[in-house]
Amino acid sequence: MAETCDIAIVGAGIAGASIAAEIAGISSDLGQTARIVLLEAEDAPGYHTTGRSAAFWEESYGGPGVFPLTMASGPWLADNGFLSPRGALNIGRADDRAKVEAFVARFAAVGADIRLLSRAEMEARVPGLRPEWTCAAWEPGCADIDVAGLHQHYLAQCRRLGVTLQTRARVTETNREGAMWRLGWNGGAAGEGAVRAALLVNAAGAWADPVAKLAGARPLGIAPLRRTVVQLRCDPAPPSTLPLTLGINEDFYFKPQGARLWLSPHDETPDVPRDAAPEEWDVATAIARMEQVVDWRIEAVERRWAGLRSFAPDRLPVYGFDPDREGLFWFAGQGGFGIQTAPAAARLAAQLLLSAPRDAMTAPLDAATYAPNRFV
Ligand SMILES: Cc1cc2nc3c(=O)[nH]c(=O)nc-3n(C[C@H](O)[C@H](O)[C@H](O)COP(=O)(O)OP(=O)(O)OC[C@H]3O[C@@H](n4cnc5c(N)ncnc54)[C@H](O)[C@@H]3O)c2cc1C
Repeated sequence: MAETCDIAIVGAGIAGASIAAEIAGISSDLGQTARIVLLEAEDAPGYHTTGRSAAFWEESYGGPGVFPLTMASGPWLADNGFLSPRGALNIGRADDRAKVEAFVARFAAVGADIRLLSRAEMEARVPGLRPEWTCAAWEPGCADIDVAGLHQHYLAQCRRLGVTLQTRARVTETNREGAMWRLGWNGGAAGEGAVRAALLVNAAGAWADPVAKLAGARPLGIAPLRRTVVQLRCDPAPPSTLPLTLGINEDFYFKPQGARLWLSPHDETPDVPRDAAPEEWDVATAIARMEQVVDWRIEAVERRWAGLRSFAPDRLPVYGFDPDREGLFWFAGQGGFGIQTAPAAARLAAQLLLSAPRDAMTAPLDAATYAPNRFV
């Protein structure tokens, strides 16, 4: 006989962990503590995209539609000690000046702290910057995020509030039994299991569409795009004050990580839901692009990895009940901003799911922008 709960959440990356913690917190504040089961296919939560991020919070990242979520999350992340100052420099060559200026104007218009920098100001921030890079948009508020700390915070809150975390539980079956879902999973050597739940939350990252299909819902076209990161040892070692440095044409970014450099070619290669691995070509492309930006010598490629950033067709996240399939709630399409938006996104989604009132963090957010019915 399958255990019965109120809410089953598929996926325990940052999305699943954060929404589970928020639902548990809000429902217990309302005096109706929800029984929640968090189902994760892997041995440990965070194995997929959450564990592979570049770990930054940047106001402009994801565009103006994501900006309100980023801004609503920032103060909470800072107050809880998950951010440390970094600064971001979006750089261009002479031909890119109009683009850099338009970038500044676009984000200044929505309230971002952003301004143009002179070549001298750029050099002071990025030693060894090649002379052709002459214009930049500076975002002083950009910060590094303690991703593992944030994920663990939500998982710890889940534990404290009685959420059951079931790892090695790849959901392979979802059926309606009256007004309830019945979810069956296969954990390989860990055996099979099942749970009955009134609501099903789809927080399956790159697997969001396959999980929706399993639940008999129409997939929304959430596409996994692969992104590569390499860790380099350089001479000179990057200064600890080096900002996150991004090409205005979205073809590279790098930032320091201790005495090492994390570098990405800013790739977005269409992929399939899987344990993504880096391609040599993307590693080589990243290095070739970086060599055009700074005159540092690369001593070693120490690590390389890739992860899947999953986007809905309009590149905005999807939070809300499925318009057609009763009892199915989407929390997916976190793209390249799922860590930096997690606090406000999870709070908003939990309030929508529980029909709970908004609070100061979520009051400025327009839920309709992120609702799945925008694709109907
Ligand atoms: C290289 C890279 C750099 C990034 N940099 C940043 C950054 O600087 N800042 C930022 O905010 N974001 C960044 N991101 C994006 C961020 O990492 C993602 O938005 C976020 O991690 C998505 O979280 P998630 O929980 O939706 O997905 P995941 O972490 O992938 O979690 C989904 C989980 O669902 C589980 N699952 C899937 N199907 C099933 C099933 N049937 N049954 C049970 N479990 C299932 C999977 O095993 C997985 O653990 C980056 C991403 C990449 C790849």
